[in-house]
Amino acid sequence: MNVVIVGGGVIGLMCAYRLREAGYEVTVIDQTKGTDNCSFGNAGYIAPSHIIPLASPGVVAQGLRWMLSSTSPFYIKPRLSGSLIRWGWNFYRNATEQKVRENAPHLYNISVLSRELTIRMDRELDHGFELETRGCFMLYNTPEAQKAESRLAEEARKFGMEVPVLSADEVRRMEPGISSGILGGVYFPVDCHINPPKMMNTLRAACSRMGVDFGYDQCAENFSVTGKKITAVQTDKQSFSCDHLVLAGGSWLEGLGAKLGLSLPVQPGKGYSITYKGLDSGLKYPAILVDERVAISPFSDGLRIGGTMELGGLNHEINMKRVAPIVHAANLFYPGLNLRVPEPKDVWAGLRPCTPDGLPYIGPSPIHDNVTIAGGHAMVGISLAAATGYLIRQIISGEKTEIPMDAFRVNR
Ligand SMILES: Cc1cc2nc3c(=O)[nH]c(=O)nc-3n(C[C@H](O)[C@H](O)[C@H](O)COP(=O)(O)OP(=O)(O)OC[C@H]3O[C@@H](n4cnc5c(N)ncnc54)[C@H](O)[C@@H]3O)c2cc1C
Repeated sequence: MNVVIVGGGVIGLMCAYRLREAGYEVTVIDQTKGTDNCSFGNAGYIAPSHIIPLASPGVVAQGLRWMLSSTSPFYIKPRLSGSLIRWGWNFYRNATEQKVRENAPHLYNISVLSRELTIRMDRELDHGFELETRGCFMLYNTPEAQKAESRLAEEARKFGMEVPVLSADEVRRMEPGISSGILGGVYFPVDCHINPPKMMNTLRAACSRMGVDFGYDQCAENFSVTGKKITAVQTDKQSFSCDHLVLAGGSWLEGLGAKLGLSLPVQPGKGYSITYKGLDSGLKYPAILVDERVAISPFSDGLRIGGTMELGGLNHEINMKRVAPIVHAANLFYPGLNLRVPEPKDVWAGLRPCTPDGLPYIGPSPIHDNVTIAGGHAMVGISLAAATGYLIRQIISGEKTEIPMDAFRVNR
């Protein structure tokens, strides 16, 4: 069977890897050269600790407060967009205690599966993801964030995770570079981190070696449909016939789905990152600075910091007013780093594909016989990619899936 995958981000590549491994003929189409998308510039966390979906109580009120500030880590660009209004309403309805309680176990199940698979793949691919199993800190400097994180730690313990809540001194004993002025932190030993460009390049090379074909630099624009089956994908350059189609188009998923009569609400959530190449920070652990929503990731070849969530449509424009606070937060928590605010050309921007309930879409199209969807992973695409590829292969092969998939179905 010949499978065409639209989207060569981490989700598309993980699907390609698993499907090719199972003997399918696989072609990945991407509108870019495959050297930059959301899967390259992120923080690289493989984080079973992220059991609370983006849509959660408190996020709406906090988001509205933040929207009044031009330097805050969250922003919605006001615009008359039917898709944004529908998405916002759905997000609001899903941001309840009950929904979070329902969704957290599903996020946990898929995260744990994904962690195991990512660790195994890293080993099989000669440590090509540069995966480190050191855990991750959630650091705070306000009592509000301390309270929220301690509550999150309690929730995580209910899933059996070991989650120590540490004082500033205890944190500094593990990571001396952190400021003595912080209030403390929660440590998640279960979390891992990878080096995103290394992971993407390793994955692409592995897929190539296995015989996956790539159609880079071409945009999937139309589909040939016969009855309930897609028979070909037309790009702006050529046509690819297919027995099965996988849509893994990240933040473009909603538009791609609409061409096939599918409703796949997704809003692009822009984030920025800055990579200080070659900087030996001496840091051992990745960390999230909770008050500022900033992530710090030490890699073998430098240090990356990132943050912000801007719902402003499909664009990669850089707003330096929101970039500078990311650097300032890193310097506040790690005074020895003395990081400089970069030129706009040295800032990376990526679009997180955000669904209104914080769970990805992983499953068959409800109106086609040969279409499967894999996308909408928002802030956890790297975390959940390995499991997504594995589960997509099980779904397409008609096998029993490793975990229950109902929560991730497309028409939920
Ligand atoms: C600052 C930041 C930090 C993050 N940190 C983390 C983290 O620590 N851990 C984590 O798990 N996640 C993190 N994320 C989120 C993660 O990066 C995303 O969830 C993930 O990369 C999404 O992967 P994807 O393959 O769905 O989308 P993408 O990587 O965007 O890939 C989709 C691809 O589809 C292509 N495409 C779309 N439409 C078409 C078309 N019509 N024709 C051809 N090609 C098409 C696009 O060009 C794109 O290359 C972070 C994101 C940001 C912005």
